[in-house]
Amino acid sequence: MKIPKKVNKYCSYCRKNTEHKVIIIKSSKARTGLVWGSRRAREGKKGIGNKGKYSKRPLSQRKRGVIKTSKGVDLRIECSICKKQEVWNLKGRYKKVEFTTAIR
Ligand SMILES: [Zn+2]
Repeated sequence: MKIPKKVNKYCSYCRKNTEHKVIIIKSSKARTGLVWGSRRAREGKKGIGNKGKYSKRPLSQRKRGVIKTSKGVDLRIECSICKKQEVWNLKGRYKKVEFTTAIR
């Protein structure tokens, strides 16, 4: 999906329609150590079914593999006047999200 670099949206801080810059948030690196997030991720790797209690992963998971090829996107818009950022909720899953190159 292609999205414009700049959009006209309502800014709740300026209380009017202003020009907004669109920012795509990319996933950051995971922290190492014993923080809750990494422990949870490690637990998740073991699988859904038997949690590493047996020699193999549950059959349903091995058979399935990776099906999903699309992802939900995290978009923010930044007001050009007050520089405040807001979440832009773009519903749906997309294979690829990029800015349009065409100049209007
Ligand atoms: Zn604003």
